[in-house]
Amino acid sequence: MTLFFLAFTIVGLTLSAPVAAHSQQDVWRLDLSGPLTYFIAEGSEESGFKEGDRTLAGWALEAWGRQINPPLEMVPGPEASATVRLYWVPAGAGLYGEMRARMVEGRLAADVFVRPDTDGLGLDISGRARLDPLFRDTVVYLTCVHELGHAFGLPHTSDFADIMYTFQYGGDFVAYFMRFREKLEAWDDIRQASPFSDADGGAFRSLYRRPGVS
Ligand SMILES: [Zn+2]
Repeated sequence: MTLFFLAFTIVGLTLSAPVAAHSQQDVWRLDLSGPLTYFIAEGSEESGFKEGDRTLAGWALEAWGRQINPPLEMVPGPEASATVRLYWVPAGAGLYGEMRARMVEGRLAADVFVRPDTDGLGLDISGRARLDPLFRDTVVYLTCVHELGHAFGLPHTSDFADIMYTFQYGGDFVAYFMRFREKLEAWDDIRQASPFSDADGGAFRSLYRRPGVS
């Protein structure tokens, strides 16, 4: 809880800087000339965090990293300087998650906030999550993937097939999660099942493809 407020305070203070950087560059892109450093926070039980959620967040990062060949290099980094940080936040205003920009050591960085408590996400989601732990984990995992997509600079899309789809266009939340859930027989399957459409992968590659490699 304390960590959560601290994070928001830091983010609030630095939020104006990345906005300026963004408009200068026209495109939000993390500096990946070296390995991506990341920090995945511990969660508290009150936030609905479950053991295994940090692993899910790590898999979500890896899943994006595999969208280019060779896969993106990523290493855990200190909380103060990691380029991508992920925090678990307690129930709020019905949000699944959020990404906030920040600057660290003069470069663009991102904080991702994920709400692991599915109980407040509407009956369709919460009811199913209670009956089916893998559905609950799917919601948490895909929220990590979506918000990390923003951290990498991907905007929302209007195509329901995309992980970067936004429900501002309407649509069926349960179906969005179930299409991934249906690929799973066991928890470990989350790591290999693809959460992406072709367009998601293409959008990532257009930002991070390196010369001479696919
Ligand atoms: Zn979004």
